[in-house]
Amino acid sequence: MNYNLANLLRQGVAGHRGWPAAWRAPEPKPRYEVVIIGGGGHGLATAYYLAREHGITDVAVLEKGWIGGGNTGRNTTNVRSDYMFPESARMYDLALRLYEGLGRDLDFNIMLSQRGWLTLIHDQHQLETARHKANWLNCNGVDGEIIGPERVREMLPLLNVDDDPRFDVKGAFLQKRGGTIRHDAVAWGYARAADRLGADIIQNCAVEGFDFEDDHIAALRTSRGRIEVGRVGMAVAGHSSVLTEMAGFRLPITSHCLQAMVSEPVRPLLDHVVISPGTGVYINQTQKGELVMGGVLDRYSSYGQRGTFPTIEKVATAAVEMFPALSELRLMRHWAGIVDISPDSSPILGATPVPNLFINCGWGTGGFKAIPAGGFLLSHQLATDRPHEMATAFGLDRFRENRLVDEGAAAGIAH
Ligand SMILES: Cc1cc2nc3c(=O)[nH]c(=O)nc-3n(C[C@H](O)[C@H](O)[C@H](O)COP(=O)(O)OP(=O)(O)OC[C@H]3O[C@@H](n4cnc5c(N)ncnc54)[C@H](O)[C@@H]3O)c2cc1C
Repeated sequence: MNYNLANLLRQGVAGHRGWPAAWRAPEPKPRYEVVIIGGGGHGLATAYYLAREHGITDVAVLEKGWIGGGNTGRNTTNVRSDYMFPESARMYDLALRLYEGLGRDLDFNIMLSQRGWLTLIHDQHQLETARHKANWLNCNGVDGEIIGPERVREMLPLLNVDDDPRFDVKGAFLQKRGGTIRHDAVAWGYARAADRLGADIIQNCAVEGFDFEDDHIAALRTSRGRIEVGRVGMAVAGHSSVLTEMAGFRLPITSHCLQAMVSEPVRPLLDHVVISPGTGVYINQTQKGELVMGGVLDRYSSYGQRGTFPTIEKVATAAVEMFPALSELRLMRHWAGIVDISPDSSPILGATPVPNLFINCGWGTGGFKAIPAGGFLLSHQLATDRPHEMATAFGLDRFRENRLVDEGAAAGIAH
């Protein structure tokens, strides 16, 4: 059933009891042409684009928990495309352009809100860097501009403008197309659309090992039985190294906890997404009125998916330094996800030492914004056995060949 006004009215009158399940809950088949491990945004988008772009529908997405229960449902929902190198700019801007039409493509309201992404500039060095970045972006055809302190204060009336604030604001980098998207809706929208096109979405199905024939993966051992397979796509974020270890090779990925928190809901007070690399906080206000905040990742590697008090303290201190009025707010929730950090803060896409296993990982602290592109590019590799020309720069072999795409600065807050 389509999500349109007529159906909404019809269901409203009927007490909303007639909506069908958004996707099926099939039993795993004994064999699939393609199996995707990981039911986060990247895995689900891969299944959707495999069907839509390449007509491949004999596909299963295996998720060990519930779809979107990993980082896709734990992130702070920010999207933007202000990455510096031409190969990154093209890829992240492809993602943003796909997001701009995604609600219509999927027939699912993803609540895209392009309210503007502001990176505050606190000193002369940051100003120089931001100017440099804006010029690079414009050369790459991506929007981005520097605005002065008066305009920043107009846009952020609650900003700390004491006579002598510790972190003076000299201006900001602004990407107007940046903003937020409802994260669950991205997972649910891709899941529903992929299911409609024929893909099986199988939850509570953990991949526990691989059976090899010669150098190829012949089958996956899962908590719901053995599944034979032609090709395997892997999009498991912070657990990428765990899975590739089972497949017999190592990735240059370390897994860290990244935390976020949300306040009680209040009336609208922040119209933009704001990041202050100097103080180490980023904030946006949700449609419900809560303030969502995050900061740097935990410095030590870990699979413990939980928050810590020192991070709450650090993020809250930075937020109050920027916006003193927030000191009145109470925190409501605090959580963490396990993110996959690569040495150059760029993703790893495509072929692996196992000929029929292809990966999508290394998005680290910023892969929500990239989901449409990550799925699109992995589906191309799975369907054609070749990387899409936009993905060639992000192959695993770049670490051996010293072709890094160092986007450390684009992470926003230095991680
Ligand atoms: C607190 C926080 C804030 C963030 N904020 C932003 C932001 O504002 N903007 C942004 O762009 N990015 C942000 N990110 C990063 C972003 O969330 C991730 O890069 C992105 O969601 C990764 O998507 P994914 O589909 O690759 O991974 P996930 O959504 O983590 O999905 C991977 C899935 O694989 C499953 N899995 C793992 N092992 C197995 C197995 N053995 N068998 C089967 N399934 C398995 C997991 O259960 C999980 O559901 C943030 C991350 C966190 C944690």
